[in-house]
Amino acid sequence: MVWATRKSGTDTRSPALGEHPATVPAGASNAGLDSELGAAEFDALLNAAIDGIMVIDEQGLIVRVNRSAESMLGYSAEQLLGRSLNMIMSDEDAGRHDNYVGQYLRTGRRRIIGIGREVLARRKDGSVFPVSLSVGEVRLKGEIRFVGLMRDLTAEKQAEEEALHHREEMMHVSRLTTMGEMAAAMAHEINQPLSAIATYTAACLRLIARDESNITEVVSALESINAQAHRAGEVIRRIRSFTRSRELSRRPVTITSLIEEIRPLAELDAKASSIRLDFSLDPSLPEIVADVVQIQQVVLNLIRNGVDAIRESPAERRKLLLEATVGTDSQLRIAITDQGPGIDESLRDRLFTPFFTTKSTGMGMGLAISRSIITAHGGTLDFRNNVDGGATFWFTLPIHPEE
Ligand code: ADP
Repeated sequence: MVWATRKSGTDTRSPALGEHPATVPAGASNAGLDSELGAAEFDALLNAAIDGIMVIDEQGLIVRVNRSAESMLGYSAEQLLGRSLNMIMSDEDAGRHDNYVGQYLRTGRRRIIGIGREVLARRKDGSVFPVSLSVGEVRLKGEIRFVGLMRDLTAEKQAEEEALHHREEMMHVSRLTTMGEMAAAMAHEINQPLSAIATYTAACLRLIARDESNITEVVSALESINAQAHRAGEVIRRIRSFTRSRELSRRPVTITSLIEEIRPLAELDAKASSIRLDFSLDPSLPEIVADVVQIQQVVLNLIRNGVDAIRESPAERRKLLLEATVGTDSQLRIAITDQGPGIDESLRDRLFTPFFTTKSTGMGMGLAISRSIITAHGGTLDFRNNVDGGATFWFTLPIHPEE
């Protein structure tokens, strides 16, 4: 939040072009405000507002609040007046606040004043909620006050999150349906030549078992077996070429932007289970050539597995970390570390096989598909158990695949 205060005259610079500070010039106060009636009108006006309104003095102390601000924050006016604004800011915003103020004093550049911003406010009970904040600057008789209007965005955000979650669920279901349909079609296509092969080999065995076996009949059955095996091979070849055609959707991309795109989804997933998800992404990481959607699918899948692994863990272990680095082998390395139970070494070989799952509602396809996507990109996907418990699933991607 920027609720900066300063004496007028300490900064004589004009606002930059294009900025529209909500500044009331000295001497331009509302007519009648000084009168008793005017003050009562002003109070009524403040208290009728649905938005929370606060006025901050030059030291960042609260000098006026309206009723909406009181009920929004859970404090009474008495508890707020004369107190520092930091009291109602999230820790993160309270830290930023000083930076913003410093910057404002140095450069005169406004980060919220006259612009508006979404910030996190803190209620008396410690809970944090999103607000849309707009701040106006008032200069009068050599003093500066800041007037903040806060709109509670909790309901709006919840609706947004639900919509996003719903969309993700739909995407997930449609992916599963597509996969299920593809698997059913494949099974059907391959089943026919396979049962033909079984029939012809049984016939061959019968013919050979008979003493008077007719070699021409055996040859004819073997030819049929051969043709059916080729037919099954053709089905597999068509599936492979279908998968390869996806390589056309590869393009140069930075892993940072690729991950930033799915970050809201991943955070939503983690937040729903009260899990902290940290990202350590160096913005200077080099580009890779990748099928963005597929790699995003891999990352989301590993994050989701991490979330599942620590869902039941105590609060201090409900953390996930996603790191992207460049390894000594000049490969990009993405690692997702959880603090869950880790993985039993006896399962190491089976983990990546299709349909292996230890979850009651799991499908067991995530790691198998993820590994095949990464291998097709020229990388490696694996995991290790960590000494302090938990597992790290990591994958590499070549930085210069054409080399
Ligand atoms: P699913 O999630 O549907 O079970 P996956 O192929 O993604 O399918 O995972 C297979 C199995 O690997 C999981 O059921 C789980 O037993 C194990 N696993 C995956 N990730 C982790 C993890 N981070 N920690 C512990 N076990 C894991």
